[in-house]
Amino acid sequence: MQSVKRALSAILLLLIIFHLPIRAFAVGNTPVYSSNLQEGKRIALTFDDGPHPRNTPKILDILDKYGIKATFFLIGVNAKNYPEALKMVIDKGHEIGNHTYSHKPLKSKSKDEIYKEIMDTEREIAKSGSFSTSLIRPPCGLYDNTLVEIAIENDYKIVLWNIDTKDWAHTSSSDIFAKVVNNVRGGDIVLFHDYISGENNTVEALNLIIPKLISLGYEFVTVSELLQNV
Ligand SMILES: [Zn+2]
Repeated sequence: MQSVKRALSAILLLLIIFHLPIRAFAVGNTPVYSSNLQEGKRIALTFDDGPHPRNTPKILDILDKYGIKATFFLIGVNAKNYPEALKMVIDKGHEIGNHTYSHKPLKSKSKDEIYKEIMDTEREIAKSGSFSTSLIRPPCGLYDNTLVEIAIENDYKIVLWNIDTKDWAHTSSSDIFAKVVNNVRGGDIVLFHDYISGENNTVEALNLIIPKLISLGYEFVTVSELLQNV
Protein backbone atom coordinates (compact mmCIF):
# COMPACT_ATOMS: atom_id res chain seq x y z
CA MET A 1 0.00 0.00 0.00
CA GLN A 2 2.84 2.33 0.95
CA SER A 3 4.53 1.76 -2.40
CA VAL A 4 1.27 2.52 -4.28
CA LYS A 5 0.97 5.81 -2.38
CA ARG A 6 4.59 6.64 -3.14
CA ALA A 7 4.04 5.91 -6.85
CA LEU A 8 0.93 8.12 -6.97
CA SER A 9 2.79 10.96 -5.25
CA ALA A 10 5.65 10.65 -7.72
CA ILE A 11 3.23 10.74 -10.68
CA LEU A 12 1.50 13.85 -9.30
CA LEU A 13 4.84 15.58 -8.78
CA LEU A 14 5.94 14.80 -12.36
CA LEU A 15 2.65 16.07 -13.77
CA ILE A 16 2.99 19.35 -11.89
CA ILE A 17 6.65 19.79 -12.82
CA PHE A 18 6.12 19.11 -16.52
CA HIS A 19 2.63 20.69 -16.78
CA LEU A 20 1.13 17.58 -18.27
CA PRO A 21 -2.65 17.36 -18.70
CA ILE A 22 -3.40 16.15 -15.19
CA ARG A 23 -7.11 15.70 -15.89
CA ALA A 24 -6.36 12.75 -18.12
CA PHE A 25 -4.87 10.96 -15.10
CA ALA A 26 -7.49 12.15 -12.59
CA VAL A 27 -5.09 12.15 -9.62
CA GLY A 28 -7.03 13.03 -6.49
CA ASN A 29 -9.16 16.17 -6.74
CA THR A 30 -6.65 18.29 -8.67
CA PRO A 31 -8.90 20.83 -10.43
CA VAL A 32 -6.89 21.15 -13.67
CA TYR A 33 -8.60 20.68 -17.02
CA SER A 34 -7.29 20.81 -20.58
CA SER A 35 -10.27 19.12 -22.29
CA ASN A 36 -13.30 16.99 -21.61
CA LEU A 37 -13.01 14.43 -24.35
CA GLN A 38 -16.19 12.49 -23.56
CA GLU A 39 -18.26 15.47 -24.61
CA GLY A 40 -19.41 14.42 -28.11
CA LYS A 41 -18.95 17.14 -30.74
CA ARG A 42 -18.94 20.11 -28.38
CA ILE A 43 -15.82 22.30 -28.19
CA ALA A 44 -14.87 25.45 -26.31
CA LEU A 45 -13.15 28.41 -27.99
CA THR A 46 -11.07 30.45 -25.54
CA PHE A 47 -9.45 33.87 -25.96
CA ASP A 48 -6.61 35.08 -23.72
CA ASP A 49 -4.86 38.34 -22.85
CA GLY A 50 -7.63 40.86 -23.61
CA PRO A 51 -9.76 42.75 -23.42
CA HIS A 52 -8.33 45.11 -26.04
CA PRO A 53 -10.01 47.61 -28.38
CA ARG A 54 -8.14 46.39 -31.47
CA ASN A 55 -9.18 42.75 -31.82
CA THR A 56 -11.74 42.00 -29.11
CA PRO A 57 -14.64 43.78 -30.91
CA LYS A 58 -13.78 42.06 -34.22
CA ILE A 59 -13.75 38.65 -32.55
CA LEU A 60 -17.05 39.42 -30.81
CA ASP A 61 -18.58 40.29 -34.22
CA ILE A 62 -17.54 36.92 -35.69
CA LEU A 63 -18.86 35.01 -32.68
CA ASP A 64 -22.13 36.96 -32.93
CA LYS A 65 -22.44 36.19 -36.62
CA TYR A 66 -22.51 32.45 -35.84
CA GLY A 67 -24.37 32.69 -32.51
CA ILE A 68 -21.39 31.36 -30.54
CA LYS A 69 -20.60 31.90 -26.87
CA ALA A 70 -16.91 31.63 -25.97
CA THR A 71 -14.72 32.07 -22.88
CA PHE A 72 -12.42 35.09 -22.47
CA PHE A 73 -9.53 34.80 -20.00
CA LEU A 74 -8.91 38.43 -19.12
CA ILE A 75 -5.77 40.13 -17.89
CA GLY A 76 -6.73 42.42 -15.00
CA VAL A 77 -4.66 45.37 -16.12
CA ASN A 78 -6.25 45.24 -19.60
CA ALA A 79 -9.70 45.10 -18.02
CA LYS A 80 -8.73 48.21 -16.06
CA ASN A 81 -7.33 50.04 -19.11
CA TYR A 82 -10.07 49.02 -21.55
CA PRO A 83 -13.34 48.87 -19.60
CA GLU A 84 -15.41 49.43 -22.75
CA ALA A 85 -13.94 46.33 -24.40
CA LEU A 86 -14.59 44.36 -21.20
CA LYS A 87 -18.18 45.59 -21.08
CA MET A 88 -18.71 44.47 -24.68
CA VAL A 89 -17.56 40.93 -23.83
CA ILE A 90 -19.85 40.79 -20.80
CA ASP A 91 -22.84 42.40 -22.54
CA LYS A 92 -22.61 39.85 -25.36
CA GLY A 93 -23.03 37.08 -22.79
CA HIS A 94 -19.65 35.39 -23.08
CA GLU A 95 -17.99 33.62 -20.20
CA ILE A 96 -15.19 35.38 -18.31
CA GLY A 97 -12.11 33.69 -16.88
CA ASN A 98 -9.26 35.08 -14.75
CA HIS A 99 -5.83 35.25 -16.43
CA THR A 100 -4.15 37.16 -13.54
CA TYR A 101 -3.66 40.90 -13.16
CA SER A 102 -0.16 41.41 -14.58
CA HIS A 103 0.38 38.24 -16.69
CA LYS A 104 3.72 37.66 -14.97
CA PRO A 105 4.81 34.03 -14.35
CA LEU A 106 3.17 32.53 -11.27
CA LYS A 107 5.75 29.85 -10.59
CA SER A 108 8.15 32.06 -8.63
CA LYS A 109 5.44 33.80 -6.62
CA SER A 110 4.30 33.23 -3.05
CA LYS A 111 0.77 32.17 -2.21
CA ASP A 112 -0.11 35.74 -1.13
CA GLU A 113 1.27 37.20 -4.37
CA ILE A 114 -0.67 34.75 -6.53
CA TYR A 115 -3.85 35.33 -4.55
CA LYS A 116 -3.45 39.11 -5.04
CA GLU A 117 -3.01 38.62 -8.83
CA ILE A 118 -6.29 36.72 -8.90
CA MET A 119 -8.27 39.01 -6.60
CA ASP A 120 -7.09 42.25 -8.27
CA THR A 121 -8.41 40.82 -11.55
CA GLU A 122 -11.70 39.77 -9.94
CA ARG A 123 -12.07 43.36 -8.71
CA GLU A 124 -11.64 44.77 -12.24
CA ILE A 125 -14.15 42.27 -13.62
CA ALA A 126 -16.61 43.17 -10.85
CA LYS A 127 -16.46 46.86 -11.80
CA SER A 128 -18.32 45.99 -15.01
CA GLY A 129 -21.27 44.46 -13.15
CA SER A 130 -21.94 41.72 -10.64
CA PHE A 131 -19.80 39.21 -12.52
CA SER A 132 -17.39 36.77 -10.94
CA THR A 133 -15.61 33.80 -12.38
CA SER A 134 -14.68 30.34 -11.17
CA LEU A 135 -12.08 29.79 -13.91
CA ILE A 136 -8.36 30.58 -13.77
CA ARG A 137 -5.85 30.22 -16.57
CA PRO A 138 -2.23 30.80 -15.45
CA PRO A 139 -0.06 32.87 -17.84
CA CYS A 140 1.54 30.58 -20.46
CA GLY A 141 -0.21 27.65 -18.75
CA LEU A 142 2.61 27.48 -16.18
CA TYR A 143 1.80 26.88 -12.53
CA ASP A 144 2.86 24.89 -9.51
CA ASN A 145 1.18 23.40 -6.48
CA THR A 146 0.65 26.83 -4.87
CA LEU A 147 -1.93 27.73 -7.51
CA VAL A 148 -3.52 24.30 -7.16
CA GLU A 149 -3.89 24.92 -3.40
CA ILE A 150 -5.49 28.33 -4.03
CA ALA A 151 -7.84 26.83 -6.61
CA ILE A 152 -8.97 24.08 -4.24
CA GLU A 153 -9.43 26.50 -1.33
CA ASN A 154 -11.44 29.00 -3.43
CA ASP A 155 -13.32 26.57 -5.67
CA TYR A 156 -11.65 27.63 -8.91
CA LYS A 157 -11.04 25.38 -11.88
CA ILE A 158 -7.60 25.75 -13.48
CA VAL A 159 -8.23 25.70 -17.23
CA LEU A 160 -5.51 24.90 -19.76
CA TRP A 161 -6.12 23.81 -23.37
CA ASN A 162 -5.39 20.88 -25.66
CA ILE A 163 -5.18 22.78 -28.98
CA ASP A 164 -2.80 25.74 -29.08
CA THR A 165 -3.40 27.67 -32.32
CA LYS A 166 -0.06 29.48 -31.80
CA ASP A 167 -1.72 32.65 -33.03
CA TRP A 168 0.51 34.43 -30.48
CA ALA A 169 3.52 33.55 -32.68
CA HIS A 170 2.08 35.49 -35.67
CA THR A 171 1.17 32.20 -37.35
CA SER A 172 -0.53 32.50 -40.76
CA SER A 173 -4.31 32.10 -40.90
CA SER A 174 -3.98 29.00 -43.08
CA ASP A 175 -1.61 27.37 -40.56
CA ILE A 176 -3.96 28.24 -37.67
CA PHE A 177 -6.84 26.77 -39.69
CA ALA A 178 -4.91 23.55 -40.37
CA LYS A 179 -3.80 23.25 -36.74
CA VAL A 180 -7.40 23.35 -35.51
CA VAL A 181 -9.24 21.48 -38.26
CA ASN A 182 -6.66 18.65 -38.51
CA ASN A 183 -6.61 18.03 -34.76
CA VAL A 184 -10.10 18.81 -33.54
CA ARG A 185 -12.03 16.31 -31.42
CA GLY A 186 -15.18 16.70 -29.40
CA GLY A 187 -14.39 18.05 -25.94
CA ASP A 188 -11.39 20.15 -27.01
CA ILE A 189 -10.48 23.46 -25.43
CA VAL A 190 -8.91 25.63 -28.13
CA LEU A 191 -6.52 28.49 -27.29
CA PHE A 192 -6.65 31.79 -29.19
CA HIS A 193 -5.73 35.33 -28.12
CA ASP A 194 -7.79 38.50 -28.41
CA TYR A 195 -4.70 40.57 -27.68
CA ILE A 196 -1.33 39.95 -29.32
CA SER A 197 1.39 42.56 -29.60
CA GLY A 198 1.99 43.37 -33.29
CA GLU A 199 0.49 41.81 -36.40
CA ASN A 200 -1.56 38.64 -36.05
CA ASN A 201 -4.04 36.56 -38.00
CA THR A 202 -6.50 35.48 -35.32
CA VAL A 203 -9.53 37.28 -36.78
CA GLU A 204 -8.87 36.04 -40.32
CA ALA A 205 -8.33 32.48 -39.07
CA LEU A 206 -11.58 32.48 -37.10
CA ASN A 207 -13.46 33.46 -40.25
CA LEU A 208 -12.12 30.27 -41.86
CA ILE A 209 -12.28 27.90 -38.90
CA ILE A 210 -15.77 28.51 -37.53
CA PRO A 211 -17.79 27.78 -40.71
CA LYS A 212 -15.60 24.71 -41.37
CA LEU A 213 -16.19 23.29 -37.89
CA ILE A 214 -19.92 23.99 -38.16
CA SER A 215 -19.98 22.08 -41.47
CA LEU A 216 -18.27 19.17 -39.66
CA GLY A 217 -21.05 19.11 -37.07
CA TYR A 218 -19.28 20.81 -34.15
CA GLU A 219 -21.14 22.88 -31.60
CA PHE A 220 -19.49 25.66 -29.58
CA VAL A 221 -19.92 25.98 -25.83
CA THR A 222 -18.29 27.88 -22.98
CA VAL A 223 -15.63 26.20 -20.85
CA SER A 224 -18.05 25.87 -17.92
CA GLU A 225 -20.57 24.17 -20.18
CA LEU A 226 -17.90 21.82 -21.52
CA LEU A 227 -16.77 20.94 -17.99
CA GLN A 228 -20.28 20.74 -16.56
CA ASN A 229 -20.12 17.01 -15.78
CA VAL A 230 -16.55 16.68 -14.49
ZN1 LIG B 1 -1.77 34.88 -21.70
